[in-house]
Amino acid sequence: MKFISTRGKSEVSCSAMAIAKGLAEDGGLFVPEIFPQVSKEEFETMLNMDYAERACLVLKKYLEEYDEQELLSACKNAYSKFEDSDAAPIVKIDENLFIMELFHGPTLAFKDVALTLLPYLLRKGCDISGIKEEVLILVATSGDTGKAALEGFKDADGIKIMVFFPSEGVSDMQKTQMCTQEGNNVNVVAVNGNFDDCQTAVKNIFSSKEFNDSLKEKNVILSSANSMNFGRLVPQICYYFSAYCDLVNSQEISMGDKVNFVVPTGNFGNILAGYYAKQMGLPIDKLVCASNSNNVLSEFFASGTYDANREFFKTISPSMDILISSNLERLIFELSGRDASLTEVRMLELKKCGKYSISEKEKSVLNAEFFANYADEMTCKQTIQEFFEEFGYVLDPHTAVAVDVRNCFVDYSGNNKPTVVLSTASPYKFAHDVLFSLKGKAPNDAFVASDKLALETALPVPEQILSLKSKERRFTRVIEKGETFNAVLDFIAK
Ligand SMILES: *Cc1c(COP(=O)(O)O)cnc(C)c1O
Repeated sequence: MKFISTRGKSEVSCSAMAIAKGLAEDGGLFVPEIFPQVSKEEFETMLNMDYAERACLVLKKYLEEYDEQELLSACKNAYSKFEDSDAAPIVKIDENLFIMELFHGPTLAFKDVALTLLPYLLRKGCDISGIKEEVLILVATSGDTGKAALEGFKDADGIKIMVFFPSEGVSDMQKTQMCTQEGNNVNVVAVNGNFDDCQTAVKNIFSSKEFNDSLKEKNVILSSANSMNFGRLVPQICYYFSAYCDLVNSQEISMGDKVNFVVPTGNFGNILAGYYAKQMGLPIDKLVCASNSNNVLSEFFASGTYDANREFFKTISPSMDILISSNLERLIFELSGRDASLTEVRMLELKKCGKYSISEKEKSVLNAEFFANYADEMTCKQTIQEFFEEFGYVLDPHTAVAVDVRNCFVDYSGNNKPTVVLSTASPYKFAHDVLFSLKGKAPNDAFVASDKLALETALPVPEQILSLKSKERRFTRVIEKGETFNAVLDFIAK
């Protein structure tokens, strides 16, 4: 299957190359030339499969040139790193409300679902594409991608990984997770700035021909583990199918019934995977896009204008503190009827003026598929408290934002179809804020807060958190925004 760029000036002949390259050379994002369909028979077989087998079936539709048996072993290996080898277990909350817990992987965030598999997809992708150079993965992170990517890629053959995070823009636990990372091929640097600064710095490195040429002389090529890479996106499509199968198996729905998915959204990767699942034939009614106070997306859905010129808020759901939502480009491309030149114009406007608009017609298509709203900080904390009181279930702040927007959605639309909220992180990644929401006070130390949260809720502290306590902090470097190029060179020279 061919992969084309959203900006129309670049294409590759297969998924392996799209994954190996990460970003298209024209600055756009790779998208599949068509959306493969999942047949009725395949749905039926998927019902009796475990998570890894379901994932393999969905992945294989795009990853045609990957060997099926090998892909299946890679999935089994990746998902054996999750509790019960299930990357996406479903918890029933009430009649119509389900939570898909995507946080039982090595770093306790949904990004593990893709990043436990991406090293294989990328390594193999390079082999298939005949790329012999060493691969340097550059990651800009709002907290969770960084750790999940480091963990996924640590000690991977022929791959180095470097992570940039906003020095004051991640939770203490996220920082501890990243700065204690083990592995011989990893590097972690804090940047004085916010997530968008980190993301822009990484994008600038990718698009500097001069810099890439100089790397090439050193036998190094760049790739990306951010959700701009199709290899990040495609494993995320799988859990939408898996959730649906689980609901059919537990007789909550019948095959063919429509369900809603609610997604706490930042860079638009997770929810875009849901949109792709729908294009492949999964019976989805509405995709609900939940934002925090950085509500650039919900305003875009309401007004048709994407306007990133606004105050940036640091919230208790830091992985959604994003003003430039990269993957939206892939959706804009679809909305425009795959008009690459129009997409390019809009993305250049965004780069130059921080905003662009879509047509009324596109906006109505958008609103037929999606519902979008946001939850502010007060509401998020209140939701954590009320949800625990009512259901005895502990939400992390990102998932709480989603639960609140789900409630808005039901109030606004009266839509009471079965609804799956994607839970993207363990509450223990944000123990201080979760405990504060429940009790009105909480100790500052993340580990002390975790112990208290466990006492308060009877939810055990995950092993992944406990084991961090004794780990050495290996990375302490803080740089200015302008120093990212040099930081990369320093790392390569090592
Ligand atoms: C990354 C992340 C999100 C946002 O996902 P996108 O794919 O960037 O929209 C939400 N919640 C958590 C916990 C995350 O780590």
